[in-house]
Amino acid sequence: MNKLLITGGLILSGFLASAQNNLDKIINVAEVERIERVLAADEMKGRKTFSPEIDKAADFIAAEFKKAGLQFFNGLTTYKQSFKMTKAKFISATGTINGEAVLTNDIIAVTTQAALKLDEKSGYKKIVIDTGANLMAEANKIISANEKTLVLVNTGQAKNFSRLKRFKRDSFEEKASVVFVLSDKDAATYSFDVLHEISQSSLANVIGILPGKSKKEELVVFSGHYDHIGIGKATADGDSVYNGANDDAAGTTAVMMLANYFTKEKNNERTLVFIAFTAEEIGGFGSQYFSRQINADKTVAMFNIEMIGTESQWGKNSAYITGYEKSDFGKILQGNLSGSQFHFEPDPYPKQNLFYRSDNATLAALGVPAHTISTSKMDTEKFYHTADDEIETLDMANMTEVIKAIAISSKGIVSGKETPSRVEKLNR
Ligand SMILES: [Zn+2]
Repeated sequence: MNKLLITGGLILSGFLASAQNNLDKIINVAEVERIERVLAADEMKGRKTFSPEIDKAADFIAAEFKKAGLQFFNGLTTYKQSFKMTKAKFISATGTINGEAVLTNDIIAVTTQAALKLDEKSGYKKIVIDTGANLMAEANKIISANEKTLVLVNTGQAKNFSRLKRFKRDSFEEKASVVFVLSDKDAATYSFDVLHEISQSSLANVIGILPGKSKKEELVVFSGHYDHIGIGKATADGDSVYNGANDDAAGTTAVMMLANYFTKEKNNERTLVFIAFTAEEIGGFGSQYFSRQINADKTVAMFNIEMIGTESQWGKNSAYITGYEKSDFGKILQGNLSGSQFHFEPDPYPKQNLFYRSDNATLAALGVPAHTISTSKMDTEKFYHTADDEIETLDMANMTEVIKAIAISSKGIVSGKETPSRVEKLNR
């Protein structure tokens, strides 16, 4: 535990004093630690997506949302936003091109269908990848286009062909199949049969809302991911639980504390959405699913909170915002902190592409000023994705200050007085 308690924290000028009192009462080190201890406990076994233990974490978050007095999101009858992921395990592949047999190893199907059967009459688009092309980049483009496609890969790419197995269709929605075949033939006629074992697994975000007083339809999202990577390689002292205390029990804790704070303040004109995402570590599926359940055009801002448990590279009372230059979200936040010693900075690790690597990415691509707030020193954070990402390595006092700074700096957006500029949409 860090002994530098609140004395070093936010010092705000007079008119904010009463708000500050409530803030200290609700967002304090003891509460941060209470929540962190549950989420990052060894019994949670690293909160791996699809594990029984992640459900325990979800139950805890839901119980806290209930205690705070949050309402259910859009038609749900629980705080859990459940959905199913389809996975495909390869069994067999056979086929012919112009009547000649093709080897199993020369067929790779990216599909969620158990029995995939195609021939030249099945309406598949035909694309050729030449010897000189960047195979993985081209394949990625074709798969993203989400159209039924037969891809004839030139035999000059034979060495790299098996790398295409990395593409999976693990998904929560129906997607078009893409079949790659290593062949130089023009495939005037063809026929392929591919079998997979299909399984479905359930997973859930945890979500609750605080309806706005006057601008109900305008949404402000506070989020963090509660999944982590589970059990891994043991350390020298035999610890194999990847607790993810910082990644991202810290962000989840912040979301829960902000829910507590804003339900007590009850002065939000906009509707506030509090969400703990699942499956961030295995591809951001929780946030992708969520982004399809809300109207992005009505989502005014997203505060995604990731790894705020350690000091940033500028020391205490500071954090960075990814994609700072893509909207004026950061400037608005900083503007609400005048008189405080806390400061937000632009992301100092632009080469790491953090803006598109966390749960803010899907909504950002749809134009929402959706940013991630973090303190993690991505170049030197020594416990990142290790069994040592434990509660003892966090600076609870500083983390509390970060959460308070988010509460204060979001004030204008929460009250409907400030609206950040939109992020440029990505065409996918
Ligand atoms: Zn994370």
